[in-house]
Amino acid sequence: MDEFRADLHCHSLCSDGTDTPEELLEKAHLAGLQGLSITDHDTLAAYTPALYEKSRQLKIALLEGAEVSSEWGPFSVHILAYGKKLLSASFLEFLSEMQERRKERNSAILEKLKELGMVIAPEELASIETRSPGRPHIAALLVEKGHVSSVQEAFDLYLKEGAPCYPFGCKYTPEEVIDAIHSSGGKAVLAHPHFLGKTPQTAACKNALLGLPFDGMECYYAAFSEASSAPWLSLAKEKGWIVTGGSDYHGTIKPHLSLGSSWTGKEAFDRLSSF
Ligand code: AMP
Ligand code: FE
Ligand code: FE
Ligand code: ZN
Repeated sequence: MDEFRADLHCHSLCSDGTDTPEELLEKAHLAGLQGLSITDHDTLAAYTPALYEKSRQLKIALLEGAEVSSEWGPFSVHILAYGKKLLSASFLEFLSEMQERRKERNSAILEKLKELGMVIAPEELASIETRSPGRPHIAALLVEKGHVSSVQEAFDLYLKEGAPCYPFGCKYTPEEVIDAIHSSGGKAVLAHPHFLGKTPQTAACKNALLGLPFDGMECYYAAFSEASSAPWLSLAKEKGWIVTGGSDYHGTIKPHLSLGSSWTGKEAFDRLSSF
């Protein structure tokens, strides 16, 4: 593959993926990618000296990134943050506040599950190897304990937005997240817009998000078709936003998503790496 391709959306064991950050680089190499951003949920823990060393060995350009959680009313909104400057003290401080909020939210979820007769001890959640515990890990424990037969069933019955054990109001607003990214010198990209605007309620969310000062939009996502990317491409063009692409690869827990299934070209990659 001669054409430059960078997958700017994937998850490692630092959040809810099943590969180490170094394994993701190896898989990116095998997939013929020249660039990668590991975008764990609310953490930059993947970006260690060992990762940079591996990226030099494999000649894969690394772009620092994270997928930051927010909520617009009852809807979960994911914002991709990119750039070296994210590793500054101010953004790391923001992420550590975020992790505090995640802890409170996880406790609230465990309380709600307990009320329904499903007991998970906080220590059980704490023992899972991750730097960003959350719903996918709680779902895995529900499967392990036999309360549900799959992670998807755990989300559908208890954990998805609007389900009985989902606590609203624990996250920052999209404005607050964009502001934190910009104040640290990073770029804010609206993740997987393809999930927005399917109902009248989500259409209001979509319109509100389109009015925010994003720098880019993830118009190419996972294995979505050209046709489903088209409306997002024209919106991004209209706004002068950077167009990105990424797979949302999570490893074996989401086997339908493969690394490199969507990617970002050289020009957009350089724009995001250049500050
Ligand atoms: P959290 O950061 O705790 O809010 O968990 C977010 C992650 O949970 C997402 O990145 C997905 O991996 C997973 N997730 C969210 N909603 C669903 C759903 N409805 N079905 C399956 N997985 C989901
Ligand atoms: Fe995830
Ligand atoms: Fe996401
Ligand atoms: Zn993701």
